[in-house]
Amino acid sequence: MSDTLILNADGNPLSVVPISVVSWMTAIRLAYQHKVRVISSYEDWEVHSPSCTWQVPSIVMCTEYVKWSRQVKYNRSNILLRDMYTCQLCGAKPPASQLTLDHVVPRVHGGKTNWTNIVAACKKCNHDKGHNRKVRPNKIPMKPNYYELMAKRMKFPVTIRDPEWLTFLSWPEDKIEIRPPRKVV
Ligand SMILES: [Zn+2]
Repeated sequence: MSDTLILNADGNPLSVVPISVVSWMTAIRLAYQHKVRVISSYEDWEVHSPSCTWQVPSIVMCTEYVKWSRQVKYNRSNILLRDMYTCQLCGAKPPASQLTLDHVVPRVHGGKTNWTNIVAACKKCNHDKGHNRKVRPNKIPMKPNYYELMAKRMKFPVTIRDPEWLTFLSWPEDKIEIRPPRKVV
């Protein structure tokens, strides 16, 4: 995970799913180019070049508002999130690593790999189902919008680098883990 939270010019994170972070090197470069301004720095972390010393930014904000597409990407982690890490066939909630992506209409029957034909399924259900096209998920899978995914994401724990980030991330307190960066100098 990167060390610097990047905010849009309106003070909101550029993105919450996933949380917009950049490496400290990128943050320093963007600040140097005046593309972002530094909102907060790690007090006890400086980096050095032969001629300069920088305090590593913990939070930066874009100097100009960045318009961005709120299209959600089709990928494994977003499918699991849409389905709340729950097998859509039996309702089990195994660890994420034990969840598979199941084609509702199996590929052998022409089923596509997309939001409306893929659901999270535990290994056993996926295996037992095989090529059976009659097995249907509990809910008809749909493409979520960004805000639906964001609301779901906030029900799960998040790891952040600096308590200062909490000013800009409205996350439930009991779901926050603070893991300070490994400070390269
Ligand atoms: Zn299952």
